[in-house]
Amino acid sequence: MGTIDLHCHSYFSDGSMSPADLVARAAEKGVLSLALTDHDSVRGLDEAFIAAQAHGVELIPGVEISTLWQTKQNIHIVGLQVDREHPALVAALAKQAGARALRAQQIAQKLDAKLKIPAEAEGSYSAVLALAGNADSISRTHFAQWLLEQKYTTNMQQAFDRYLGQGKPADVPIPWMGIAEAINIIKAAGGYAVLAHPGRYSMSRTKLRLLIAEFKALGGDALEVATATEKPDIVRYLGQLAQQNELYASQGSDFHGAHMPWIELGRFPKLPEGCKPVWELWESQRA
Ligand code: AMP
Ligand code: MN
Ligand code: MN
Ligand code: MN
Repeated sequence: MGTIDLHCHSYFSDGSMSPADLVARAAEKGVLSLALTDHDSVRGLDEAFIAAQAHGVELIPGVEISTLWQTKQNIHIVGLQVDREHPALVAALAKQAGARALRAQQIAQKLDAKLKIPAEAEGSYSAVLALAGNADSISRTHFAQWLLEQKYTTNMQQAFDRYLGQGKPADVPIPWMGIAEAINIIKAAGGYAVLAHPGRYSMSRTKLRLLIAEFKALGGDALEVATATEKPDIVRYLGQLAQQNELYASQGSDFHGAHMPWIELGRFPKLPEGCKPVWELWESQRA
């Protein structure tokens, strides 16, 4: 079990729990140090900090920024120890949130057309807005949840495979910022940039190595080596890539809520031998 969990989501993005409940659950699971890393949002951090103090958990302010690499590939970059009030970060996230809100309306239009929902009927938009609570945080996960609830699909994966994934009928690409911009903003905000779940992008190993080398050259700090649902041989491979590229190694569950019971806070593989844990970066600063 990992007592340091550097990746999870609250209902300020596509997680199902409040930041306070998330921190309480982390404490219950033996997590001593938790980073809240909502997609393109730092709005959950104030509440998380208050709860962390009450539960004796160390809260690390984080964010998971959506980016585009080589114009098409969606890459997630986690920022850890960011100043959540930094103007450049706040402005960039506001821009991403605006694009997200607009995309939600466009996805809804495409989806309703594909599902042949008549224009006068209540379509997917109002339902996902209710699920997300806020137009700025509507994620494709909310659409997937709605498709599942309405029995258009039998599981989340199918919702992406049939409707929401790249090139599918309700796919609407967002002009997310590039990886260089995300790294620069995270660093400007005093944080550390982590390439999230490198094993989860559908790309060849050659391309992955290129992405990691570019990430390092642009000033990236760490690779998320140990993440839930990753097979042991992939974790070992990512550990090697981190070391070869002189990147620190991060770890985290990417917990989204109890509705995905196969993922739990603090539960993910151990970092392989020889990896330098990313928290050394801020612990050495403190010493
Ligand atoms: P968005 O940021 O709105 O484009 O949504 C991306 C989120 O959707 C990711 O962070 C995942 O939580 C979720 N997601 C993406 N692909 C899949 C998939 N194939 N199956 C289940 N969830 C997915
Ligand atoms: Mn998510
Ligand atoms: Mn992600
Ligand atoms: Mn995530």
